[in-house]
Parts: sequence; structure tokens; C-alpha cells
Amino acid sequence: MSVTASFIGEAQKFCMALIVQKYGGTSVGNTDRIKNVAARVAKYHAQGDKIVVVVSAMSGVTDGLIKLAKDIAPLPSEREMDMLLATGEQQTIALTAIALHTIGIPAVSMTGAQAGIVTDGVHTKAKIHNITPQQVHTALDAGNVVIVAGFQGETAAGQITTLGRGGSDLTAIALAAALKADLCQIYTDVDGVYTTDPRIVPNAKKLSEISYDEMLELASLGAKVMQSRSVEFAKKFGVVFEVRSSLNDNPGTIVKEETKSMEGVVVRGVALDKNQAKVTLVGVPDKPGVAAKIFKALGDATVNVDMIIQNISHGTGTPATDISFTADKPDLLKAQKVIEGLKKEVGYREVITAEKIGKLSIVGVGMKSHTGVAGKLFETLANEGVNIDMISTSEIKISVVIDLAKGEQAVKAVHAAFIG
Ligand code: ADP
Ligand code: ASP
Ligand code: MG
Repeated sequence: MSVTASFIGEAQKFCMALIVQKYGGTSVGNTDRIKNVAARVAKYHAQGDKIVVVVSAMSGVTDGLIKLAKDIAPLPSEREMDMLLATGEQQTIALTAIALHTIGIPAVSMTGAQAGIVTDGVHTKAKIHNITPQQVHTALDAGNVVIVAGFQGETAAGQITTLGRGGSDLTAIALAAALKADLCQIYTDVDGVYTTDPRIVPNAKKLSEISYDEMLELASLGAKVMQSRSVEFAKKFGVVFEVRSSLNDNPGTIVKEETKSMEGVVVRGVALDKNQAKVTLVGVPDKPGVAAKIFKALGDATVNVDMIIQNISHGTGTPATDISFTADKPDLLKAQKVIEGLKKEVGYREVITAEKIGKLSIVGVGMKSHTGVAGKLFETLANEGVNIDMISTSEIKISVVIDLAKGEQAVKAVHAAFIG
């Protein structure tokens, strides 16, 4: 029996299992798709299961709302962005509830706040503090399917917040933990986690299972299929979950604790992050405390910095150096503003930004016990004529920053070299 089948079999042994299902943007992308979701939920409901459905905004809606705001102001207030973006998911919870009513299933929709999701006050990337899903329990006990708006919460002071792009995954995993769900299913537009994005490499292989750590690295390195913070949360609270398709009944990918057999594979997956930007401060005085000033200010402004590279010093007198870092593209304007504010205090010469970069990464727990992986990666890229701009490594991953225009070509070559 496959892992997936046995996992689902386990869950079905519970009578009245509590199941959390999350449907992403494409899965609720139009009214037919929403009816399709309702039909799938109805099947589980007919078995007597208690079901909590988490939905995203219809595909394109969140991007459309962001565009509207940016047409008015390049750097809109983050509180108002949360107020705006939270409306996307509120449309789909109501539409999904209506679709369920139409086929005779009692259902009630809830905002993140009504579902008891309490967050900190960091607008646009809030962290969940706690969940008190009292209203969810009450509605489930009354026989309802409960439909919760993904991606949103509320501070203790009643401010609406959002959980970062892709945050409906986090809503689902966190609710599964809080409700002690028997099963957590993430329904999306691919039928599982693949060795790389199947849209870039059509012969990418579907994984029947993957460890939390590998999924976490792949997700934070650009594999959009899961939001990285949701995987971090799942690992912390031991939430085993399945990524599967809302468009067919194929078994998906189980994400769970690492097992011994997983170490046999050197490279589990390849990811490409197109959402990073690079900032270089040229001619920074090379003396103690300068880097601290720069990165403390960026941190205070909640800019998520990823790779950092400092060049060797040059010049006479007080030596100067160049410092480059990467950050999420949507944070670039904010980062530039912070850096400009430091010009006098730090005394750098100029700032250069680059948006046309891609970060390619290979990930695998097997890298801990295999040598020669970096050499093979660099050789593969060299053979493709791809120049490496920045490098960073951890025990289970190697990342390189390259020219965005060569990103997909590089992913294809690296996938062929390591996975086939
Ligand atoms: P949803 O709207 O359901 O949350 P997303 O668009 O966020 O879905 O994520 C699904 C997409 O992730 C897929 O369409 C696929 O192109 C992309 N993706 C990137 N890397 C991978 C991977 N390794 N395995 C599967 N899908 C991936
Ligand atoms: N609608 C939000 C986004 O597009 C959250 C999600 O889809 O998970 O990022
Ligand atoms: Mg997503």
C-alpha cells in the first residue's frame, strides 16, 4: 500500500474525523470551481466527517487589489493594505457557503477574527499568536461545514491583519493544529509537490512524501506550492499534511517528519525564486558597527533580508567595502528608503539595486552525507553559460543568485543533472 493510501486509510478509521481542507486561488478561481469545491466537501460531509474549509481569494484578486492601491500610492499604508486585502478572502468564504447551501449542506462562513485567529500587529506579514476557535467548534457541533477566510487574522486590539502572501496555507495548518484535526489537506492546482515546478520542467517527478525540513527549504527558496511559514508551523506542531489537487483524485504528497530512507536521495528538489531583489551599498566605511547599523534599521522596518555578501576592503585611509544583500522584491522600495535614511550616518558612496535576479537552489537532506554537490552544481551552470553572482549554503541546500533571464534554462539543466 502506498504511503498516501495508508495515511488516508488511517484517517478514515476515525468515525467523525475532523478534517481541515484548504483550497487555493485557482481552486476557487471562478463560480464553477467553487461549485466543484462544494461537491468535494459534500462527499466528505456525507461520510459524517466534520469539515473546516479554508479558502483563498479567487486567483488574481489579491494581485488586483494590490495594483489598485499602488496606482494611488507607491508605498501605501500597511494597515490599509491589510484592510483592503482581507476583502479578497471574504468574497470566497461567502460564495463557498452559498454553493454548499445550494446542494443542501449546512455551512457557515467566518472571517479569521471570527475563527479566533489572533496575531501580532505587524501588518502585511503578521504572525499568529494564538487561536481560540470557539465559534468554529460551536458551528461544527451544530452540524455545519465551517468556511474560514484564509490569510487573515486580527490583533488583540481588533485590527485586521494578513499573514504574508500565500498565507491561507498557514491559516489551514494553524487551524488543523488548534482544532487537533485528524487530517489536513492542502488542495491546489498541481497534484502534489514535485522535484521542481512542473510548469518549468514538465518531466519533474511527483514526490509521494517529503520531510518538513526539505519542504521548508523548497518553500522559502521559491517553490510557491506551500507558504514557508506554514511549513515551519506544521513542523513545530507536528501537523502532517497532504498537498493534492482540487481538480482530480490523484494521491498527493505527504509532508511529515524526516525518516531514515529520505537521506538516500542527495537532491530532493530544485527551486527558483523570482521574487528577490538585490541591493548593493558601494563604498561603505569598513569599521566596526556599520553592518549592525544597516541591518538593524532594515530589521526594524520589517524588511526580510536573505543573503548578505561583504566584499574585501579596498582603498587607503579608512578602507571601504561594498555590501550586497537580497530581500523580497515587494520590500525593495521600503529597503531603499531605509538605506537612503542612513546615508549621512553610514557614509556610503552610492546604492545600486537590481530586480532582474533569480535565486536557484537545490535542496536535500542527503546533502549532509554526500560530497561534491556544490562542484557539480557550479559545473552544470558553467556549461550553460550562467554566471553566479552570490552563493549561500546550509546543511541541506545550496543557493546561487543568477541572471533572471537565464533562470528557467538553469533550472532545467540543474534538474536534469541531479534528478533526471
Ligand atoms: P494555491 O493558489 O493553490 O495556493 P499556488 O499558486 O500558491 O497555489 O501554488 C501552486 C503552484 O506552485 C503550482 O501551480 C506550481 O506552478 C508552483 N510550484 C512551484 N514549485 C513547485 C513544486 N516543487 N511542486 C509543485 N508545484 C510547484
Ligand atoms: N490571497 C492571498 C495571496 O494571494 C493568500 C493566499 O492565496 O494564500 O497571497
Ligand atoms: Mg499558495
